[in-house]
Amino acid sequence: MIDCLFCRIIKNEIPAKSIYEDEKVLAFEDINPQAPVHTIIIPKRHVTSLKETETGDKDLLGHLLLAAKKIAEDRGLGESGFRLVINTGPDSGQEVCHLHVHLLGGRRLGWPPG
Ligand code: 5GP
Ligand code: ZN
Repeated sequence: MIDCLFCRIIKNEIPAKSIYEDEKVLAFEDINPQAPVHTIIIPKRHVTSLKETETGDKDLLGHLLLAAKKIAEDRGLGESGFRLVINTGPDSGQEVCHLHVHLLGGRRLGWPPG
């Protein structure tokens, strides 16, 4: 298995502030938050990026989005709103090669992104 930072967080080899977990996904606080709420939601199974997903992953992808929505509501963002980001590939700035959803909220977010 490749040495993957987020797989190491799943295996508790690297500490992270976990805020949600179920059989398929784990969510934890971003180490360098860009908003009052900045949570990372990942599949427990290693997937390099959205680019590597296929039709057979649609349950997992739906699960990730529904988990993100639940966490956003639990964090009080249901009314104020929030943003989900899935960086994919070099132009996006993806740094960690394990599929992840950023949940950002708690402040007004600019658009378009930089
Ligand atoms: P990307 O740029 O790949 O979309 O996002 C990776 C995110 O992971 C970044 O927002 C970064 O701050 C976060 N991150 C990187 N290393 C760690 C870590 O060791 N722990 C946690 N909790 N987040 C990390
Ligand atoms: Zn991984």
